[in-house]
Amino acid sequence: MKDQNQPEWRAKQIMDWLYVKRVQSFENMSNLPKKLRDQLADSFELNPLQVITVQKSKDGTIKFLYGLTDRHAIETVIMRHNYGISVCVTTQVGCRIGCTFCASTLGGLKRNLSSGEIVAQVIMAQKYLDETSDERIRSVVIMGSGEPFENYEATMDFIRRINDKQGLNIGQRHLTVSTSGVVPNIYRFADENWQVGLAISLHAPNQELRSNLMPINRRYPLSDLLKACWYYLHKTGRRLTFEYALIGGKNDQDEQAHELGKLLKEMNCLVNLIPVNYVPERDFVRTPKSQIFKFKRILESYGVNTTIRREQGHDIDAACGQLRAKHNEKINQE
Ligand code: SAH
Repeated sequence: MKDQNQPEWRAKQIMDWLYVKRVQSFENMSNLPKKLRDQLADSFELNPLQVITVQKSKDGTIKFLYGLTDRHAIETVIMRHNYGISVCVTTQVGCRIGCTFCASTLGGLKRNLSSGEIVAQVIMAQKYLDETSDERIRSVVIMGSGEPFENYEATMDFIRRINDKQGLNIGQRHLTVSTSGVVPNIYRFADENWQVGLAISLHAPNQELRSNLMPINRRYPLSDLLKACWYYLHKTGRRLTFEYALIGGKNDQDEQAHELGKLLKEMNCLVNLIPVNYVPERDFVRTPKSQIFKFKRILESYGVNTTIRREQGHDIDAACGQLRAKHNEKINQE
């Protein structure tokens, strides 16, 4: 935009319209001069996301499918917990990491999202809540489709923007970013010196099995990943979360629980066991409940804090990438 001869306080006014009043057109920013409103409208996209579908689960989970301006589609999820409402945002259209159990990666990576497109997911979710209740988003997890550490700059910019006091003002401790293990950016992230939580998608206790499930483990081996995790722990003093999706017969046996317990017993961490979400394109079975509890007990016998993720939105395709995959299928048939 050319005309930058604006007083500084205009930026505050615009932030207020964007993040607090959450208007959908520059025209509605009534305390700005008409000329500036027109210039802004010519230079920026205020509505980068258009709602295609909203799915509501009986348990309160709400899943949005949004269309982007270039006709790609992405997903965002609102989840309800006893501590409040959280939103799960997407950072890329598709994904190139290739985890064998994941739906988001099936069509490969299409493109990175801009930080504005990630911010807009939270604003749109809050606007949706504004219309139906007076609930406020308490936390954001960067755990939707895509690998945030392969779209590092936009993800960090997103974090700064929603953390900003004049923005949505969501505290750093209420933000968590999840990575499949892009090691160099775990170091970079630790050096940001933030209080933002970090989750690592581990899913296996040894090099061979992890490489079978997650090809990224050949690029960044488990031993290097764990070194980066130690660096993060020392640098930030925060606890790390390890996500571990239990896949029947593959990584859910007692033997793997013991191996995982030995691997993590010295670490200040939490293991979050996730009963694997069914993806039609993938042929795996789910772990019986009794084995999930046993796996947890074994980990706890090594002093490793363990939780089992509560399943949400099972009636609404809530596993990452499933709604988008269905949408793409429909478009391809048309
Ligand atoms: N790329 C990042 C963040 C997005 S995926 C990452 O890998 O961490 C968010 C989490 O969902 C990851 O832990 C991922 O491994 C997990 N996940 C993917 N597909 C799944 C499935 N079918 N069932 C359970 N968890 C799955």
